[in-house]
Amino acid sequence: MEASLQPGERRALPTRLSPSRASDFKRCPKLFEYKTILGLSTPNTVATARGTLFHLVFEHLFDFPRAERTRENARSLVSPGWELLTHPDKADDEVSDPMERRLRDTSGLWIELLEADTWDLSSKLERAADYRLLAPSGSQEEANIISQVEQLVDNYFEKDIEHVQDFDPHGREVHVQAQLGDLTVHGYIDRLDVHQTQSGEEHWFISDYKTGKPPQAQYASESFFGMRVYALLLEEERGIRPHKLRLVYPSADRVTGIVTEVVDEALQIRTKSQVLQIWEEIKTCDTQEHWPTKKAKLCNWCHFQEQCPAFA
Ligand code: SF4
Repeated sequence: MEASLQPGERRALPTRLSPSRASDFKRCPKLFEYKTILGLSTPNTVATARGTLFHLVFEHLFDFPRAERTRENARSLVSPGWELLTHPDKADDEVSDPMERRLRDTSGLWIELLEADTWDLSSKLERAADYRLLAPSGSQEEANIISQVEQLVDNYFEKDIEHVQDFDPHGREVHVQAQLGDLTVHGYIDRLDVHQTQSGEEHWFISDYKTGKPPQAQYASESFFGMRVYALLLEEERGIRPHKLRLVYPSADRVTGIVTEVVDEALQIRTKSQVLQIWEEIKTCDTQEHWPTKKAKLCNWCHFQEQCPAFA
C-alpha cells in the first residue's frame, strides 16, 4: 500500500506498473492520473466485496485434497471467508470455527502475523472497515453477498465447468515480475497449471476467475489484455511460454464457462510492444503534465466523473 497524499500533492511517475494500471491508462489517461499520480482511491463496493470473497473461495478450494474438492466443501469456505475479510485481525483465542481457523492458517491472517507488516495490516483493516459498512454483520446485504458467492459455487459444480478433482494447480496467486526496458511490470496470476501431454511435453495454462458473465464475442479480445501481460512476464521471468490463457466464468455453463486464447510468438511480441507503447505514452503525459480525458461508455462507471473536466 502506498502512502496517502495531501490534497494537491502529486506522486512521481512509478517505475513499476501492473496490468490493471496499464489498463486504466488505455481506458483513459485522466483516470490513470487520478488513481496513480494523484493517489485518489476508488471506494470499495458490494461488487468488489463479492469479487474478493469469490476469489478467496476459489483459491482455497485447492487446499482440500483432490477427492474432497466438492461443492459442499467449497460452500463451507464462504461464510468463514467473509469473516476473514471483514475481521482480518483476529487473535488465535478469538476463533473457534475450524474452517475459519484453517483458512486463517493458510492465508496467514492472524493479528500476530499481520503486525509484522504495518502497511499490509492497515490496508486490510481499511478494506475490512469498508466491507463492514457496506454489509454490516447480520444485514440483508451481508446475506446477499454470501448467498451470491454460494450460487456461483453451486453453478460451477452443477455445470461441471472444471474438474477440480483431476489436477493440482502449479500455483495460486503467483507473483510474476519482469523488466521491460526501463519499466518493471508485475502482477498476480489467479491460477497457474501445468499439464503433461502424451508426448511428455509440458503445457502451461494461466487461469483467471471472473464473477460476471462471459463477454460477447466482439469484446472477448479486450478481456485478455491483463492475462496477455502475465503470459509475457512468465516468459520473460521464467522462460515459460504458456500454451493458453483461460478466463473462468463460474456463473456460466460447461460450454461458455471457459473462454480461451492461444499464446504464440506473435502474441507475445504484440503484447510487449503494446505495453512499451503505453509506457511511452504515460511518460509523455507526465512530461507534458497533460493527461487527456477519453470519453466513452465506461465513463458511466467512473468514480471520478464529478471532478472530470470532460463532464465539467
Ligand atoms: S469520467 Fe471518463 S473521461 Fe473522465 S476520468 Fe473517468 S473515464 Fe476518464
